[in-house]
Amino acid sequence: MSLTPEKKPLFDTVMIANRGEIATRIQRACRDLGLKTVVVCSEADRDASYGKTAEVFLCIGPSSPAKSYLNKDAILLAARLTGATAIHPGYGFLSENALFAEAVESAGLTFIGPTADAIATMGDKIAAKRAMIAAGVPCVPGPDTALPDDPKRVEEIALDIGYPVIIKATGGGGGRGMRVVDEPARLHDALALTREEARQAFGTPALYMEKFLQHPRHVEIQVLCDCHGNAVWLGHRDCSIQRRHQKVVEEAPAPGIAPEVIGPIGEACVQACRQIGYRGVGTFEFLYEDNAFYFIEMNTRLQVEHPVTELTAGIDIVKEQIRVALGAPLAMMQRQVTCEGHSFECRINAEDPESFMSSAGLITALELPEGEGIRVDTHIHAGYKVSPYYDSLIAKVIVHAPTRNEALEKMRQALATTRVDGISTNIPFLRAFFEDADFAKGEVDIHYLEQWLKQRA
Ligand code: ADP
Repeated sequence: MSLTPEKKPLFDTVMIANRGEIATRIQRACRDLGLKTVVVCSEADRDASYGKTAEVFLCIGPSSPAKSYLNKDAILLAARLTGATAIHPGYGFLSENALFAEAVESAGLTFIGPTADAIATMGDKIAAKRAMIAAGVPCVPGPDTALPDDPKRVEEIALDIGYPVIIKATGGGGGRGMRVVDEPARLHDALALTREEARQAFGTPALYMEKFLQHPRHVEIQVLCDCHGNAVWLGHRDCSIQRRHQKVVEEAPAPGIAPEVIGPIGEACVQACRQIGYRGVGTFEFLYEDNAFYFIEMNTRLQVEHPVTELTAGIDIVKEQIRVALGAPLAMMQRQVTCEGHSFECRINAEDPESFMSSAGLITALELPEGEGIRVDTHIHAGYKVSPYYDSLIAKVIVHAPTRNEALEKMRQALATTRVDGISTNIPFLRAFFEDADFAKGEVDIHYLEQWLKQRA
């Protein structure tokens, strides 16, 4: 660690308030940095392998996430009892909960993530849009204020933007709380439905409206910031391969985007980070259509797809995230960031390859791919029981090669040697998709996978 020896580190024991593959990933980074780990788990995860290699392994509640991984009080109490001095929230669960970040810091612990204020601002999509406009980041056309109650005014706003438009909940997330409106006649029903959904799901009925882009790609920029005003961007990823707004395959870099087109966007993201005093890792998500970028949201946490950036940029993002939380300055400057080769990630999900219904149960045998340029992030092993309580992600297969074509071929080989017996997985679907000629050419849009699935149904 590049902290001066006379300065006592802010923390030496990290509590991992998460589970599954990301718990394993965080633990590896902590070990590399010489930090101890405390792992908390639910009853369903009592046998987790990463628990056995932690200094302390503690069950904090029943299998239901609300009673364990989302239980702020239980997690804070566990930190106090075990002497953990920092908390890494991973992704999902409490990772973007501003109240939790605040509670952690109020308890005198380090929250390995941005400030509660930054999380709250970016969690409110309208506030985020306003902050981005102020920093010169291009956004989807549409007002940066919530929709008024007056229906006549809303009609005017929609006409101003031009149909089709998309109505979104300001507090929305996880692909929910959004509705596309193609024509004026459908506007009021769509408004009422989305408002009600937003009230129930996100606790606020506030909505906003923007242009609905018809054939965009999802392109995102990874940033890394320290507490000393330094910020860098680590290249870009393409996450257009989605089903129900959920990413399935990711790659870095996003193919076919010229450096002079992406460069100013990366710089604008870094500028925005400096302007809002952002710290830690973050991702700016954009829609990309006809050579233009449109900001949609910022994720204030580590993302599932961070490995494709790690392999192309040659930077351990999780280790850097923890180092900056320790107060260390960034280990690199922007001009030292160079991205090389091409990387793909496949999310291996415990689900039926055709119906996509999730599948739980015992893994009776497991074979994982290995070799140069192949990485697997996972917590599973033969004899592991996949629980029905959580997300179906059980492993990530990641490859890196000098060119996109070589990386595609490497992924085909990796998937051919991946075998998970005892439960259903999406591996057969991934193998078939990696044979698709248009995907292999690159630059397909966010609707491509759903259309591909429909054609094969
Ligand atoms: P969430 O926070 O729920 O993930 P996002 O704002 O990130 O919501 O949007 C999720 C997905 O919805 C995007 O990746 C894209 O596929 C689609 N989407 C969002 N906004 C638009 C838009 N203005 N036009 C077209 N598609 C959109």
